Amino acid sequence: MDELVSLCARRGFIFQSSEIYGGINGFWDYGPLGVELKQNLKAFWWQRMVRGRDDVEGVDTSIVAHPRTWEASGHVEHFSDPMVDCRACKKRFRADQLDGVERCSASKTGEHDLTEAKQFNLMLRTFIGASEEAANVAYLRPETCQSLFTDFKRVREAARQKIPFGMAQIGKAFRNEINPRNFTFRSREFEQAELEFFVHPSERERWFEYWLGERRRWHADLGFGDDVLRIRPHDSDELAHYANAASDLEFLFPFGWQEIEGVHDRGDWDLTRHTEFAGKELTITDEETKERYTPMVVETSVGIERTCLALLCNGLCEETLEGGETRTVLRLPAFLAPVQVAVLPLSKKLSESARRLAGDLRRRFPVFYDEAGNIGRRYRRQDEAGTPFCVTWDFDSESDAAVTVRERDSMTQERIGVDALRAWLTDRLEMPA
Ligand code: ATP
Repeated sequence: MDELVSLCARRGFIFQSSEIYGGINGFWDYGPLGVELKQNLKAFWWQRMVRGRDDVEGVDTSIVAHPRTWEASGHVEHFSDPMVDCRACKKRFRADQLDGVERCSASKTGEHDLTEAKQFNLMLRTFIGASEEAANVAYLRPETCQSLFTDFKRVREAARQKIPFGMAQIGKAFRNEINPRNFTFRSREFEQAELEFFVHPSERERWFEYWLGERRRWHADLGFGDDVLRIRPHDSDELAHYANAASDLEFLFPFGWQEIEGVHDRGDWDLTRHTEFAGKELTITDEETKERYTPMVVETSVGIERTCLALLCNGLCEETLEGGETRTVLRLPAFLAPVQVAVLPLSKKLSESARRLAGDLRRRFPVFYDEAGNIGRRYRRQDEAGTPFCVTWDFDSESDAAVTVRERDSMTQERIGVDALRAWLTDRLEMPA
């Protein structure tokens, strides 16, 4: 983990927010490489879950919702973690996550002197308008899905969808986590990509299995095999009272197996609660059978930053080459790499033609142009950034209109004509269908 954290800061993937002020716990900034990785990951999710289907509609809803939303969803009452304080060192911990916490710095024995556990609500509160009165309290959403329920009727009608169909969005969520930790794994501000899929009650089991399978396939396309990704069904005592079934997709991080996605059968809990709290019907009438019912919901909810972290953990590797030299390489899936093609002229004398090639490729791929330093060192810098292909323009290129393409993982080199280059790269850089 330490190596990864340092690579991320050094190469501008991820670093502390407000770094020059000493950082702010639980908040992270994504630099030039990090933002591209995140955008590509979100684009892949959106393609697979929204654009690639005709039974899912995308939306982008506001972060602040009507405060009654969070009463209906149960968050005001129940969205809390048990918290304890150490009377000696004054540190604060989650009572259910005391395993492995550091020892007390203020007591001789190193043991913490803990208070009784208190419930601490994780929603971040703010005030809307000019006065800070109870009536103006609002919350930064702790999950993105609630407005998919509150917008359900509007979107279904506008998009002329019939059951079964889904609504999806990617957006920021906020949780005032007691102990942000493990780099970006547990943050206070993060992004979720969520799908709520509305089905007839008789079909909930089938759709739950379907979406669990679809989500496993998506993670397989990220390169996560069974050695690093497992499905963990919830035990019946873990299930929310309204849930029929739930499974976590867990990734093997350096700090252990941890959830990166949840797939839940939420039943009709959310729509029923919003009907009750808003006084608006959210039922469906089947046109053929005239049956009136509240749809059941299967949810898939993945954390964008947690998945980025999993990609980085899975990709980072240090290799010893022949001759004893080591190289650090980030084996990201090519279609997600922040830079997909690096264009490197062998000499600065060749920069005019090489720049022209870079300009041409940039219309289609994220390209990085680098003409400084020896070519070996330039390759190493691209290996560390996860760039799958380096295109070298050399003196022969000026006459034979061909370039050498070096592949990141195998380091093999291939001579390819400039005319064929775009199609050759497209074949290898397209996202999986
Ligand atoms: P945990 O038990 O780890 O707190 P959770 O079960 O509360 O997670 P969900 O409410 O199911 O998480 O949220 C769905 C997804 O959102 C998670 O699988 C995770 O990827 C992401 N997520 C939740 N909380 C955080 C957080 N504090 N920081 C980063 N990502 C998060």
